[in-house]
Amino acid sequence: MARLAAELATMMKESGSTVVFTGAGISTESGIPDFRSPGGIWSQSKPVFFDEFLRSAEARRESWRQKEIVHRDFSQAAPNAGHRAIARWESAGLIDGVITQNIDGLHQAAGNEAVLELHGTARAIACLTCEARYDVDSMMNLFRQTGEPPECPQCGGYLKSATVSFGQPLPEDILLDSIRMAEQCELFLAIGSSLVVEPAASLPRSAKRRGARLIIINRDSTPLDDQADRVYREAIGAFLTEVDQLLRR
Ligand SMILES: [Zn+2]
Repeated sequence: MARLAAELATMMKESGSTVVFTGAGISTESGIPDFRSPGGIWSQSKPVFFDEFLRSAEARRESWRQKEIVHRDFSQAAPNAGHRAIARWESAGLIDGVITQNIDGLHQAAGNEAVLELHGTARAIACLTCEARYDVDSMMNLFRQTGEPPECPQCGGYLKSATVSFGQPLPEDILLDSIRMAEQCELFLAIGSSLVVEPAASLPRSAKRRGARLIIINRDSTPLDDQADRVYREAIGAFLTEVDQLLRR
């Protein structure tokens, strides 16, 4: 692993602009299951699609019941060695920022500030009408007390996890910022993503098309492996820590 870590550290030192893109694989070491994997919530519950949420009070209740389960996992999760290495890279000026498919907020918890969350965040509740944001714990308490999804205290609108539901469009401004970052970077690190969920998976392709080096760090193979300049099948936390130690020298 040492030789591979040294190779990546050299590429990062030589790059004038590096973007980190992360998926579920970086958070599994924090005990957060990939939603799509066995044991993940979508292997036990049927997801509530966005149009059902808008249409049906029962769908809104089911969405809040699922939120309660996810919230329990997330509120206990802490950043791992992989998150900490990436946070250090931002504070050291080694990366432009992080684009993530994750909703767990662990990059920010590790100290990253430049984070684009393509699928929103599970760390807030949002009003679908006035876009006000609320603390998850206080709204979850209201839900537990009444068994009914709380309404927006400001406008009475529907409240939902500030995540992007199935069938809900991605936040356009964040998607556009992500595309711009991908197209302008010299080095694109795709970490812990299976690179199958669109439109997120198109970001590494855009980076590559514009001449960036594409590096994939993931346990399993991805559809973009043959387009990548390097593919590392290493344990993410240990590998990023080793790269980080080399970068500190
Ligand atoms: Zn509202």
